[in-house]
Amino acid sequence: MKKLELHWKIIIGMVVGVLVGVLSVQFEWGPQIVIDWIKPLGTIFINVLKLIAMPLIIASLIKGLSDLEDISKLSVLGKRTIGIYLLTTVLAVTIGLTIVNVIQPGKTINEETRAQLEQAYQTEADRTRGMAQEAQDAGPLQPLEDLFAENVFVALADNGNMLQVIVISIFFGIGIILLPDKKVGTVKKFFDGLNEIILKLIDLIMLTAPYGVAALLAALVAESPSVDIFIALLWYALSVVLGLGILIGVVYPLLMHTFTGKGFGFFFRGISPAQLVAFSTSSSAATLPVTMERTEEHLGVDREVTSFVLPIGATINMDGTSLYQAIAAVFIAQAFGMELSLAAQLGIVVTATLASIGSAAVPSAGMVMLVIVLSQAGIPEAGLALIFAVDRPLDMCRTVANVTGDAAVSMLVAKSVNKLGDPKVKNWDDHYQPKIK
Ligand code: ASP
Repeated sequence: MKKLELHWKIIIGMVVGVLVGVLSVQFEWGPQIVIDWIKPLGTIFINVLKLIAMPLIIASLIKGLSDLEDISKLSVLGKRTIGIYLLTTVLAVTIGLTIVNVIQPGKTINEETRAQLEQAYQTEADRTRGMAQEAQDAGPLQPLEDLFAENVFVALADNGNMLQVIVISIFFGIGIILLPDKKVGTVKKFFDGLNEIILKLIDLIMLTAPYGVAALLAALVAESPSVDIFIALLWYALSVVLGLGILIGVVYPLLMHTFTGKGFGFFFRGISPAQLVAFSTSSSAATLPVTMERTEEHLGVDREVTSFVLPIGATINMDGTSLYQAIAAVFIAQAFGMELSLAAQLGIVVTATLASIGSAAVPSAGMVMLVIVLSQAGIPEAGLALIFAVDRPLDMCRTVANVTGDAAVSMLVAKSVNKLGDPKVKNWDDHYQPKIK
């Protein structure tokens, strides 16, 4: 019998997880059982992915860069990557603003619902504002300063320092490019070998993905708030999902198809396991190992490109987040009866683009940075309480868009530098079977 492809296995895991969660909330003792006995399995899955992320960035980035013959190639790659990332983010914000102005979800919130939501989520909203305060207080060049670590080991010790590790690895890679092969050949071989090992480990981790996502979703459903609030926020949530759907289902595949000639089916079959992991973990950083493996081995993007474009994308290219921030900001303004002028909306394009770049690739980060968009546009920050209840499911969806955008852009960049080929893996079933030599 033909084995099921990985994405189907993961989807089955998701359905089972949701069913277990729904079943658990039927009993008073159910959610606690899920939290005690099932949730830890999901946490282990995320932890193992995060564990592998830093070593993967270092090994693949150094190896990828060291294969470039000269620094000018790095500068071409860098300019194209950042340029395309910025374009897709601005496009995403524009789509978000168009949708929120047409649907006007904020107008569906009456005085009473607004007061109820504000009261119910006041504490959480205050906490998020507190977290955003630090970013707001920092000087204008602080993000630039933060790129440069003063100690390699300190930088490596915190997954939140991904950008610092990327900078260190690029710096190291440049050193290798500048030296002749006979002096640094062994170092190159070491990082190449390390990278191969890590990619193999990701294959092994992906064997457990159906179980990991089942556990994550079961816990999420068991812990979720009441459905009534979801209904009050239905139009807002639908606006965000519609925008993300357009990005994921139309904009990215169309861009990818137009510039690379590859089919929609090819793209989605290749990237879908990463999308499903992004959905279940709500973290582009935790998904990065899967995104890299899928893009390189199943979408045919050369390691030279994936190793550079994807880690940077996971940390700075968040189209789903920027689209959500635009919709959320205008939704809150509408709910408070504010009219936003065209200038204010253009201001949101700029701040949402910057805020999404500054958002960490972890759950809820987009909401923390939303505070900055709100305060720049003069929208009441207290409005955060209005959108709290549905933030997690929307976070899951926007993380899928973030990851899909990174993969699509990596294909565009690869095509532009002639590094897009045929996928290495053709027989996907065999690929995930560990071979014992
Ligand atoms: N969770 C998102 C990500 O990791 C960031 C966000 O909160 O929007 O991509």
